[in-house]
Amino acid sequence: MKTPSREDLTDRELERYARHVILDEVGEEGQIRLLDAKVLVVGAGGLGSPVLLYLAAAGIGTLGIVDFDTVDMTNLQRQIIHSTDEIGEPKVRSAADRLELLNPEIEVVQHRTRLNAENAKEIVGPYDLVVDGSDNFTARYLTNDICFFLKKPLVSAALVRFEGQLSTFKAHQEGPCYRCLFPHPPDPTLVPRCDTVGIFGAVAGVLGTLQATEVLKEILGLGTSMVGRLMLYDALDQTFRTVKTAKDPGCPLCGETPTITEVTSAD
Ligand SMILES: [Zn+2]
Repeated sequence: MKTPSREDLTDRELERYARHVILDEVGEEGQIRLLDAKVLVVGAGGLGSPVLLYLAAAGIGTLGIVDFDTVDMTNLQRQIIHSTDEIGEPKVRSAADRLELLNPEIEVVQHRTRLNAENAKEIVGPYDLVVDGSDNFTARYLTNDICFFLKKPLVSAALVRFEGQLSTFKAHQEGPCYRCLFPHPPDPTLVPRCDTVGIFGAVAGVLGTLQATEVLKEILGLGTSMVGRLMLYDALDQTFRTVKTAKDPGCPLCGETPTITEVTSAD
């Protein structure tokens, strides 16, 4: 864990983050760690919205957003960082504007692009930790692979209909990577997408808020990490189930004889 950059918060920061600082587990030192942290959020959509709002509110000092899309009317049912008057605007700008209103004291970096094999290293490189809030398998696998190669912790979540899943990957240190659990992307023609099968909007809020919580815990070194555990959420039953996960020695990325040795956009 990095040494905090300074010893004291300013009076203004002490006021803004008072409810964090009062927690023994966070304190002034922990809050400075959060302000020092650089977190990249892939996707400013259903998951990215609550993740970005909570991380900005919590005082993550540098918050990067990668997204290529513009705000669409159909997004607003769950992507709560955007507003009706932002329809047609780039999502990264809409999100950054909202975060500026919430907390003008942090830096928000807009990456208006799709993460791909060519730009992944340059975009992800400067950050300490990555949040996967992407809505497609190309981005999901690419994010997993670049995080493994660059040794960045990855807090991952996914949603479909009334269900979601959550885990943290640090396969460069311990535990599995996303590919250990799901070695290759499924056939795109068989995969449900939220534009065709739907998503119960608040489910994105549940999973995104859990992701934000895990990001803060990872940065502060608090509690039990989600590494080696996959949480499954079912909104209809209102149940959470957590299963243990393990590194797959045959994993094409982090296994004993890897076949993936650089990021590609094709897989
Ligand atoms: Zn793996």
